Amino acid sequence: MADQLIRATAADHGIRAVGVITTRAVEQARQLHGLSYVASAALGRAMSSGLILVSSMKREGSRVNLRIQGDGPLGGLIVDARLDGTVRGYVKNPKVELPPNAKGKLDVGGAIGRNGYLYVIRDLGYGFPYSSTVELVSGEVGDDVASYLLNSEQTPSALLVGVFVGAEGVTASGGLLLQILPKAAEEPKLVELLESRVSALTGFTPLLQQGATLPEMLHNLLGDLGLNILPEVQMIRYHCGCTMERMLGALKMVGATELQDMIETDGGAEATCHFCNTVYRADPDHLRRLITEIAAESS
Ligand code: ZN
Repeated sequence: MADQLIRATAADHGIRAVGVITTRAVEQARQLHGLSYVASAALGRAMSSGLILVSSMKREGSRVNLRIQGDGPLGGLIVDARLDGTVRGYVKNPKVELPPNAKGKLDVGGAIGRNGYLYVIRDLGYGFPYSSTVELVSGEVGDDVASYLLNSEQTPSALLVGVFVGAEGVTASGGLLLQILPKAAEEPKLVELLESRVSALTGFTPLLQQGATLPEMLHNLLGDLGLNILPEVQMIRYHCGCTMERMLGALKMVGATELQDMIETDGGAEATCHFCNTVYRADPDHLRRLITEIAAESS
């Protein structure tokens, strides 16, 4: 199944569901950054989570950044997901590998660390991002993002995210979000029912790996609750929109004195985009132009 995101409602709009498949995007990230097994799983879960969070936003240009900073050896990760279905991300220490956890699974919680914070930065498409922070619950990503949804948005949510990665690369990755919307949150029976359904859904990734499609999984979970899958399917892809102009914009922040020093000492400047590893080289002419711009803006 191609990378995609679908949305659905059930229980007379009392339940909102989002499903996403990110297998190819996460495989691309793995190859791009040389990610270890556990780093692929951590970043892949966060990429699926970011895409699910941004999918509830409306305005063109909306984006969600997830930053997870735990005390584990991965050293933190960043994901940038956009409403147009593009996603990018990186981890600080991509080569870190850990032995499997007690359940025999990739130890994402150990790699990220169980102590630390999840920062969710939302830009509603107006260019004024706002940020919320929650403490990590387990470092396993899904629990942490669900905790953010409950604490910051008061929405009881179940979030399943998973990545299967083996010797041949990432063969399954995706996520499923079920939310009880405010008008239904007062119905304890519905909350209870949904909780039991979600806990019965053992292993989202194995299902995906067996070839189960998102609509099939949603039918299994919510088919008897008036499931309505919305017709629009959002295609997903790994994409970094960095440009030379943006890199120069960032360089400008260092100030005229530093830029002059770069011209004299290094004969230019070099910057690497963390999201896609593109190396940008600014020659002295570029830097002199920036210095002129700074002078014009400050006069
Ligand atoms: Zn880039």
